[in-house]
Amino acid sequence: MGIMLVIKGKLWNLQKKLLGKIKWGGVIGIGDSMSLHQIGLFDWLYSEKELTIYNTFERLEDGRYSEFNGQPNDWIPAEVYNELNRKIWEKSRRAMLSDIFFTSANAVTMDGKIVSVDGVGNRIASVIFGPYKVVLVVGRNKIVENVDEAISRIKNLATPLNHLRHAVKHGIKGERAKDYGVYKLGELPCVKKGHCVDCNAALCSRHCTMIMEKGTGGYFKDRIHVILVNENLGL
Ligand code: SF4
Repeated sequence: MGIMLVIKGKLWNLQKKLLGKIKWGGVIGIGDSMSLHQIGLFDWLYSEKELTIYNTFERLEDGRYSEFNGQPNDWIPAEVYNELNRKIWEKSRRAMLSDIFFTSANAVTMDGKIVSVDGVGNRIASVIFGPYKVVLVVGRNKIVENVDEAISRIKNLATPLNHLRHAVKHGIKGERAKDYGVYKLGELPCVKKGHCVDCNAALCSRHCTMIMEKGTGGYFKDRIHVILVNENLGL
């Protein structure tokens, strides 16, 4: 596992150097991440026409998933909705076998452990195994002392804020709201109280937790690349 510290302006040179180690023109997988948006990764990736990109949770301007494009912007019959969701699921499965998987982490400890949580597990599963290379872009705000501090930060800061963010940014208002669970994220106890109360909400984005202590081993020991950016990124 490699950890690099960079300033934002020099990030792309480092990434291109990193990507040069594997077959260019390959398949890129992307895990949902605000940090990747903030550093402008998508502008660059989408300008590279030879890439196949599986960006599972890509959104339209109105907050819907891109797979919903072409669908009426109001009520969608259940069978259509379920089929669109199946496509999103399939995209995340393909991202798991990409050449390079980009995402962030929820925390990096001072002794080099990576701690992340997921609602459905697609992001942390891909970090642990699957893609040839994994690039984690992590802002300085996510550096913590140890695993206990990482878990506390995730439960009581990152996850409640993330639920609130999704509800505000991607929540569907009006008549359609009752059909979309994301609208109810703003009603979760952690959002109302500002910290986790370990409830059993199905909508929680903290169903699975990864504590990566030593990267991946053996033949795959150079898979994981953490790029620590000397700026605050993500939550
Ligand atoms: S377990 Fe419940 S309270 Fe805790 S982060 Fe998840 S939804 Fe919020």
